[in-house]
Amino acid sequence: VPVGEISAGQLAGLVAGRNFPLCMSVMYERLASEHHLKHWGLQQFTLFLKSIGLPLEQALLFFRQQFAPRTPGDKFNKEYVYSVLYNYGLALNSSYLLLFVVCRTPGDKFNKEYAYNVRYNYGQEGKRQDWSEWSCVKIINQEVGGACAGAGECNGGCPYKTYSAEQLRAALSRLNCNDKVIREVVDKARGKHYQLACGLAFEGITGSPQETGINKPSEYYASSIELATQ
Ligand code: SF4
Repeated sequence: VPVGEISAGQLAGLVAGRNFPLCMSVMYERLASEHHLKHWGLQQFTLFLKSIGLPLEQALLFFRQQFAPRTPGDKFNKEYVYSVLYNYGLALNSSYLLLFVVCRTPGDKFNKEYAYNVRYNYGQEGKRQDWSEWSCVKIINQEVGGACAGAGECNGGCPYKTYSAEQLRAALSRLNCNDKVIREVVDKARGKHYQLACGLAFEGITGSPQETGINKPSEYYASSIELATQ
């Protein structure tokens, strides 16, 4: 069980180990099947990965791999490398040209030209703001998300709010959540107590109560890792 910094290669194991809250595990699965996330989904997921200790280079490698089957390298670099850097509070500048080389599909003319444009146009530092992970309240109140409730690409959100009772039951069953607890989770979600539903699901999945409450997705992750390392 990883503690502290994690690598892109460990993410699949963490999802399989049920260490992610439902919002993030469904996003991971949808990313794996669609090879793409919509803007807010990418934002929410990147900031979560950053908060649990995935370094920038590993985040870029991870998204590059995930987007690869559908997104050509040039499109990835143009649209998503910028977005990932932005979430890490970094400007796109010449320091990151190496990442472009790593990400580049051999023979990709666009990348060469884009790298040139990066050197030319973006050779400055930005705000360097250290963006924080989104809180549950922010995710819950996000109107455009949907938390992968519909088909297609995911745009973030909290499943306890957006999933139907049937979808929630199915998702929690896949995580081997205790049946009795699933019923309680669905009741809590119906009553709009989404964070309490999430805490109860933690208990149904791990067999241990989550005492501190869940205000951010990384708190779910931290409790899960703590339990696994005891
Ligand atoms: Fe994610 Fe928070 Fe919703 Fe849990 S309550 S699924 S951590 S947004």
